[in-house]
Amino acid sequence: MTFSALGLSDEIVRAVTERGYTEPTPIQAQAIPVVLSGGDLLAGAQTGTGKTAGFTLPILQRLTASAKPVTGKAPIRALVLIPTRELAAQVEESVRDYGKYLKLTSMTMIGGVNINPQIQRLKSRVDILVATPGRLLDHLQQKTLDLSHIEILVLDEADRMLDMGFIRDIKKILAILPRQRQNLLFSATFSDEIKNLADGLLNKPAMIEVARRNATAELITQKIYPVDRERKRELLTHLIKEHNWHQVLVFTRTKHGANKLAEQLNKDDIPALAIHGNKSQAARTRALAEFKTGKLQVLVATDIAARGIDIIELPHVVNFEMPNVSEDYVHRIGRTGRAGSEGEASSLVCIDEHKLLHDIERLTKREIPVVQVPGFEPDPRIKAEPILNGQNRGQGGGRKQQGQGQGQGRGGQGQARTRAAPRTGSGPSRTNAATGKPAARAPASHRSGGYGR
Ligand code: AMP
Repeated sequence: MTFSALGLSDEIVRAVTERGYTEPTPIQAQAIPVVLSGGDLLAGAQTGTGKTAGFTLPILQRLTASAKPVTGKAPIRALVLIPTRELAAQVEESVRDYGKYLKLTSMTMIGGVNINPQIQRLKSRVDILVATPGRLLDHLQQKTLDLSHIEILVLDEADRMLDMGFIRDIKKILAILPRQRQNLLFSATFSDEIKNLADGLLNKPAMIEVARRNATAELITQKIYPVDRERKRELLTHLIKEHNWHQVLVFTRTKHGANKLAEQLNKDDIPALAIHGNKSQAARTRALAEFKTGKLQVLVATDIAARGIDIIELPHVVNFEMPNVSEDYVHRIGRTGRAGSEGEASSLVCIDEHKLLHDIERLTKREIPVVQVPGFEPDPRIKAEPILNGQNRGQGGGRKQQGQGQGQGRGGQGQARTRAAPRTGSGPSRTNAATGKPAARAPASHRSGGYGR
């Protein structure tokens, strides 16, 4: 299968070939013909599957094919709604890149930056608008945006959009769009809420589902490193230095935890920066750019801030703290081993997180190999403690309360969605031989005491 065989124009094929794509990914092979035909689409696909090109390429083609000569200012014809700023910026960058041999223009519309340059930009031609819902509504309120000529609407990462509390914003936006239009909805998961949204939005949609990443994670080597909560930073530094990891994306549960860890790593002579919703957009963009070019060895991120980070062949993802929501584990490790390259996802797990680990293994239907680093064996006398507001006591730096919102969502985003149940009893630590390699699994009866399995 080639991109030309899917009916894409020479200009588009040239742009994707230059980007290094030799053949369409499964989501692209299925979605492109549907979108080109003008029909609605409901697609189950996660980040990492190539879904962005799956909708962008045929949209570029359709807008080019049906371009009408316009007098005066051309209207905005396609709207792509995206939950987070980073992802919006990346999608728009892809639109520009894939469309570089076409005459179409695009714009990113996100919060966290001054609105005035966006108002200025809207005075010139924009064919494709890539926006986060909050800022888009700000523009509508200020009457600086006209969406009355939208022909194609994309809701990307719809499940995440709902998780972040954007449903009311989305409904407001849908209400002002022209009725006659093509709708494309992408979501990694299909809750009843998503099904309701799809029912109200889509007209006889084609349905496509590509394998979830948690079913196709063979390219990602996953490992669990047991460690006491107070020694995680020490172990992380050890792993980075010992294995000479040069580009590591590290996840923490909270903004405060991210800041603190980045500071500590810097003290250990490991260049690190934190990105999260409290940082300015400029600081986040700069950190991401430095990380991408390899200047910055470690990027510490919270889940929302890291959504959509697209770094080709990112070799290492580390869960410094396990996520409260199991699906976030899949999203996190999906940052590595992308589009055919191999990656390693390491989780530093302390006794408080056994229940979270258990939930993740249930979701992904696989047991993650355990590696015990010599000298970091958990102390069996340490008891599990509840994880309150995302923070383990040991990593909280004495702050009891820490907001979890990432500053991008509107309503609903700030709350922890689940709270880890404390595990009682310290249980014996894993008995793996300290080989530094993934240990052979102990029989289930042995495991149950140690890792919440
Ligand atoms: P996405 O799921 O859209 O975030 O894309 C994930 C990654 O796959 C991005 O780094 C894309 O540049 C890359 N990608 C998309 N399509 C292809 C393709 N056909 N061949 C190789 N890489 C691709």
